[in-house]
Amino acid sequence: MSEVFDLIIVGGGAAGLTAGIYSSRAKLSTLILNEGAVGGQLIFTEEIANYPGVPTTKGYMLANNMKVQAKSFGCKIKTNIKIKKYLLQGAVKTIELEDGRMFQGKTVILTPGGTPRSLNIPGEEIFKGKGISYCATCDGEFFTGKEIVVVGGGNSALEEAVALTSYATKVTIVHQFDQFQAFEHAVEEAERNPKIEFIMESELRGFYGNEQLGKVSIEHLPTGKISEMKTQGVFIFVGYQPNTTDLEELIELNNRKEIVVDSEMKTNVDGVYAAGDCINKKYRQVTTAVAEGTIAALGVSEYLRS
Ligand SMILES: Cc1cc2nc3c(=O)[nH]c(=O)nc-3n(C[C@H](O)[C@H](O)[C@H](O)COP(=O)(O)OP(=O)(O)OC[C@H]3O[C@@H](n4cnc5c(N)ncnc54)[C@H](O)[C@@H]3O)c2cc1C
Repeated sequence: MSEVFDLIIVGGGAAGLTAGIYSSRAKLSTLILNEGAVGGQLIFTEEIANYPGVPTTKGYMLANNMKVQAKSFGCKIKTNIKIKKYLLQGAVKTIELEDGRMFQGKTVILTPGGTPRSLNIPGEEIFKGKGISYCATCDGEFFTGKEIVVVGGGNSALEEAVALTSYATKVTIVHQFDQFQAFEHAVEEAERNPKIEFIMESELRGFYGNEQLGKVSIEHLPTGKISEMKTQGVFIFVGYQPNTTDLEELIELNNRKEIVVDSEMKTNVDGVYAAGDCINKKYRQVTTAVAEGTIAALGVSEYLRS
């Protein structure tokens, strides 16, 4: 633990990698500590078509380019780590890992992102990985030639439903409202796709099967009528919850467990910033995550100069 980094970034998704690019390019000694594989949600995204200046690309390719770029400026990245304890107060912050390693930094940017929200209905735990998935990129191919269901009505649900038609013969989107919350172009693309059908104003009530998922029950909300549908796969895209459980006692969170930041990405703890899907904001996109990562890293540079 001899080295005290100028900056430790917690999380290596779009926000964390961008902060790493900016800070290491500004010659700040920077360490990214990332729990999973580098890239975060990017690696779960089949196609990114709205990142400016980059023609439609695979999420994992964009993530890899960001990682290579950060490393080229000297950013250190440690993956597959598990943080045990944070000491964020004071001029030097300490982060202790489960394996006993300790790292110190003069500043910290928190970018732990989010994880998929569950439906929390009977059978979901049993059939996770046995027909239920939260990631089209990871699991889409397993459903080649099958009829599947997508749950959700936002951009992710509609875009991933379209992506899943490359594998599945039929995709039924089940959504709780009578309208979608997605951008118009995403809705239009799904509506144009002959393999996609819609069940509106309805919610899944249970998952059933033997070894593998075989059917779901669906409630039509206006009438309360429950019907069953045979399906071998269900993809759930009903939003994300911020990965902030470990931070609850350490930093100000709002009632949605998002980290509260100001317009410069400062948290309520001196020298600690946050960016990306974990913060209090409305729109969760790669462009917003990279923008906040940029602002946080520039803020850190200024903080260290002063
Ligand atoms: C299916 C899907 C499709 C999407 N499609 C698009 C799209 O087309 N266009 C678009 O702009 N956006 C899209 N998004 C949203 C976009 O991917 C996210 O908004 C963005 O990637 C968030 O980046 P982030 O860095 O804030 O968080 P994340 O990507 O969630 O990264 C957080 C990282 O932190 C790590 N981490 C978590 N907790 C800890 C911890 N305690 N210690 C250390 N590391 C930790 C995680 O392992 C992860 O690597 C999509 C998202 C999904 C899920």
